[in-house]
Amino acid sequence: MSATTRAAAVPAAVIARLKAVVGPAGVLEAANEIAPYCRSWRDDWVGDVPVVLRPQSTAEVAEIVRLCAQARVPIVPQGGNTGLTGGSQPHADRSEVIVSTSRLNRIRALDTTDDTITVEAGVVLQQIQAAADTANRLFPLSLGAEGSCQIGGNISTNAGGVQVLRYGNTRNLVLGLEVVLPDGQIWNGLSSLRKDNTGYDMKQLFIGAEGTLGLVTAAVLRLFPKPTARETAWIAVDSPAAGVALLSHMRARLGDAVSAFELIGRAIVDFLIAGVPGHEDPMREVHPWYVLMDVTSQGPAGSLYEPLSEALAGAFEAGLVRDALIAASGTQAARLWRMRESLAEAQASAGGSIAHDVSVPVSRIPEFITRADAALARAYPAIRLCAFGHVGDGNMHYNPVRPLDWDRARFVAERAQINRIVHDIVVALGGSISAEHGIGRSRLAELVHYKAPVEITMMRAIKHALDPHNLMNPHKVVPG
Ligand SMILES: Cc1cc2nc3c(=O)[nH]c(=O)nc-3n(C[C@H](O)[C@H](O)[C@H](O)COP(=O)(O)OP(=O)(O)OC[C@H]3O[C@@H](n4cnc5c(N)ncnc54)[C@H](O)[C@@H]3O)c2cc1C
Repeated sequence: MSATTRAAAVPAAVIARLKAVVGPAGVLEAANEIAPYCRSWRDDWVGDVPVVLRPQSTAEVAEIVRLCAQARVPIVPQGGNTGLTGGSQPHADRSEVIVSTSRLNRIRALDTTDDTITVEAGVVLQQIQAAADTANRLFPLSLGAEGSCQIGGNISTNAGGVQVLRYGNTRNLVLGLEVVLPDGQIWNGLSSLRKDNTGYDMKQLFIGAEGTLGLVTAAVLRLFPKPTARETAWIAVDSPAAGVALLSHMRARLGDAVSAFELIGRAIVDFLIAGVPGHEDPMREVHPWYVLMDVTSQGPAGSLYEPLSEALAGAFEAGLVRDALIAASGTQAARLWRMRESLAEAQASAGGSIAHDVSVPVSRIPEFITRADAALARAYPAIRLCAFGHVGDGNMHYNPVRPLDWDRARFVAERAQINRIVHDIVVALGGSISAEHGIGRSRLAELVHYKAPVEITMMRAIKHALDPHNLMNPHKVVPG
């Protein structure tokens, strides 16, 4: 995909002033250096800018934003550029500048009494997890791109991942924010308070705003006790309905110890084993669906093995499970989770998919998959159906894969129609067309189609109040 606007290119004099703010080390101008910042992870959005700016401090960000506001130059904030909806890439007309947070990468403080960590926007998620771990704490946000996505991007997309079931999404993990507003003012909202009812909770506006309301420069995040006991199980089930019933069964027996619960269809396991080196089938028999589950607690190491085994035995007796294995070591558990994290690559290796990041009430997941599979098979008999996701949160990645005898262009040409078939079913079941990846550009038309007009009006009013000249990540998230 590519998108064009008809805005003017950034004037050379403005570029010169912006470059002076960050100095030579903070400027990328060569085409080969800029290219990776302009291309999306899935390669379906490609844009162009005259310059990428990499400020090192909040003051530098504020000065850049102030100069851009004065000159009416739009800004695309960018973290790790792993977003999946075309939100972090520029348009193609060179009218924008990218402000990358990659050099805003300091951990400012970690407090084990308040259980908080204060980080700049460009700290890579994995580094925050590691810093928390060193302090004997847990920062629970965890997702496949954690080695390259940055916390500013996680906050701006309200990222989910595999531990939402127990800890909530990013919104639940943020206590305070520092944000540069579209006119260049700095809002220091770096509070570590857990209770503060003094009017509107402003930070919530910026969480999930995808850079359309301001540029997040730092955050105070919640830390949790580090689990001391952990078991990982790979469980074969008959169907999504059995997977959902197993979730209820496990939560009834193990309560909040169930921290991750992923449903994975056989099709994507086949793509993974065939197309991504280093993976093998965890079980000898082939099964139609699997659950990858983690249980964790503060008990002694190994103390969850018995309760998990008993809960699984009960599930066998109830006919919910076909086969199950509990990882025998941390290495085996890591191997199972690597499978889960490689599912995006598996789709690419199979020829590419049309992605749907949808949520419905957990109880309606089986109906959603049955109806969507039937509707797509009717419309496209050769399409390869493929679903997996965070079933514990009602969030499925429903990503049908290109028919074997179709080329990519033919498949992509059907994207809007396939989206409509899937999203109509999601909405009929009371669901959302974007559970965790956001709107960006990929879902903008769908947002307009499905969201209540009164909600769109409220979104536009908020955008206009904070960014009257539409300079922060324009033409994304908020319909024009
Ligand atoms: C393999 C893979 C697995 C993934 N798994 C998951 C998953 O399980 N759950 C999930 O939720 N997502 C997932 N994602 C999507 C992606 O990783 C997340 O959306 C992530 O939070 C984006 O972080 P980023 O730093 O890469 O942000 P970017 O891609 O750089 O930016 C994302 C959006 O936020 C804006 N933005 C970035 N930084 C700032 C800032 N400092 N201030 C204001 N706006 C900003 C950008 O303009 C853009 O609109 C996955 C992606 C990949 C490639």
